[in-house]
Amino acid sequence: MLEAYARLAERSLRDEPPSEAEALWILDGRDVELLPLLHAASVPRRRWFGNKVMVHILNNVQNGLCPEDCGYCAQNRDSKAEIRKYAMKSDEEIFAEAEHAARAGATRYCMVLSGRGPTLERTRKLAELIRGVKQRWPVEVCLSVGLLDEERARILAEAGLDRLNHNLNTSESRYAEICSTHDFQDRVATLVAARKCGIEACSGLIMGMGEASRDLVEVAFKLRELEVPSIPVNFLIPIEGNQVVSDGSLTPERCLRALALMRLVNPRAEIRAAGGREGHLRALGALCA
Ligand code: SF4
Repeated sequence: MLEAYARLAERSLRDEPPSEAEALWILDGRDVELLPLLHAASVPRRRWFGNKVMVHILNNVQNGLCPEDCGYCAQNRDSKAEIRKYAMKSDEEIFAEAEHAARAGATRYCMVLSGRGPTLERTRKLAELIRGVKQRWPVEVCLSVGLLDEERARILAEAGLDRLNHNLNTSESRYAEICSTHDFQDRVATLVAARKCGIEACSGLIMGMGEASRDLVEVAFKLRELEVPSIPVNFLIPIEGNQVVSDGSLTPERCLRALALMRLVNPRAEIRAAGGREGHLRALGALCA
C-alpha cells in the first residue's frame, strides 16, 4: 500500500499527475492513510520550494458595492451581510499600506478591488499605482480586480504587474449554481488574457459550496491545463446573509486531502492553504505544509 503513495510522489517529481481515478481515490478512498498521503504531497513541495516561506500581504483597496452576484461573497449585490463598504482608497492610503507590507518583509503586496472588472480609466489609474509601488519598494505587486480583457491586461503588464489573482472557484459544470452574472469561461478568458500579456496567474478555488469530489478534480486539472503557478485553496467561511452557505462537508481531513490533490496534480505550483484555513483545519493546520 505504501508503494501507492511513493509512486504518486515519484511521478509528481516528473510532473506526471495522478489519473482521474487516483485523484478521486485521494479525495474519497476509504483505505487512504492520511499521513502517507500528506508525505507524498510534501515531496514535490520540498523539491521545488524547500522550506521557503513567502509572505503575501493583501489590502482591500475597494470593498463592497459590487454588481455581480457571486453567492459566496459578502460584497455581492444581493448579499444581506453587514459589511463595511467603501470606494477605492486614496493613493496615500494605498502607498502607506504598501510601505507597511514591504517593511513587514512581504514578498508580495496584493491590491484587491471588488467589482466585475475595471473601466479603462480605472485600469490606467491602477497602472499608475503599480508603478508607484514598484518604484518605491522591492515587493512584487499582485492585483485582484475582476474580469480583464487583453487591452486592460496589457496596460497592467506594462506597468509591471507581476500577478493577477482571479479564482476559478468551482468546476465549470456547477459554476451557474454559485453565480449568474458571469460564467466560468469569462474567468478562464481573463486568465488567458493576463498570461498572453506576461502576467502570471494566481487562481484557485473555494471548497465547501456543495461541490462533489469530481468537481474538485475537474478544477485541479483545469488549473494544470492553464499552467497556473499559484493556487489558493479557500475553505468557505459561511457568512450570514449570503446566498451560498456552508454545505457541512469541510472536515479537517477533507481539506487536507484536497490540498494534497492540488499539489499532486500541480506539483510545480505554489499551493496555498488560504481563506478559512484556521476555522476548518483547526489543530491539523500544521499538516498543510
Ligand atoms: S465579482 Fe468579486 S467582489 Fe464582486 S461579488 Fe464576485 S467575488 Fe465578490
